[in-house]
This record gives sequence, structure tokens and C-alpha cells, in this order.
Amino acid sequence: MKKATLILGCLILLFVSSAIAEEENIYSGKVHNQKMTGVERSFKGELICLGCNLKESGARADCKTHGHNIRLKTQNGVFLTILPNQYSDKLLADNSFLHKPIEITGYHFAKANTLDLLSYTIAEKTMSWCVACQKMDDCAQK
Ligand SMILES: [Zn+2]
Repeated sequence: MKKATLILGCLILLFVSSAIAEEENIYSGKVHNQKMTGVERSFKGELICLGCNLKESGARADCKTHGHNIRLKTQNGVFLTILPNQYSDKLLADNSFLHKPIEITGYHFAKANTLDLLSYTIAEKTMSWCVACQKMDDCAQK
């Protein structure tokens, strides 16, 4: 009986600690899990369409058929993929963000040259994930 209680106690402790380990910060959407190997970094640049941009260099891009492929072009000319997810949906879908100075912070996966979005600042307004509102907004700034 004592052994069963001890095992049950361990299972509860494991469940609680894993729930805590994947806790999401209410304003930043930051995750705290053991799997995260991305490094939090910020990049300045502008959002561009990779296809339209490469077309200027002769690439056979066809955005009319395949859609625009939005990337962050950093200040030193590197194209960075922004991981499509609930955090980046609006940023990747809203064409009004294109070709404007922007600073993007996220978990950077260097080998994939990909950023899992945490926040972005455009026109002096910073947007980050709000768990209460379930969207990217400026609640953290208020
Ligand atoms: Zn395009």
C-alpha cells in the first residue's frame, strides 16, 4: 500500500512539474520547457516577400499562383523565416506590415534560420502574445 501511495505521489509530482515546465507567460507567450533549444534574439529589418524579392534577381517566382512568402529581411540582408503559428498569423497575413522598419523578437533556431515569434515592434508599438486575450496585442505595454 505504501509503495502504491509513493508511486502515485511521484506521478502527481511529475504531472505538476511538467505542467509548470510548459507554462506560458501571460504577456510574452514565452515558454519554459526543457525541449526549447531556440535562443531568444531580436532582429531589425523589414518584412518582404521572398518570391517577389528574388524575382528581381531573376528567380522564377509566381506569387499570383503560389501566394506571397513573407520573410524578415534583416538589416544585413539575411532572409529569416518566421515560423507560421498562432503568434505569427497576423504578422504574416497583413500586407500593411511589408517594407516598414520592424524589430522582431523570438526564439531563433540558427540551423533552420527560423524565428518562433515572441513579439514585434513596428511604428513604436510592441505587440506580444496575451494569453488573456488569446492574440498578439499591446496589453503588456499598457
Ligand atoms: Zn510575392
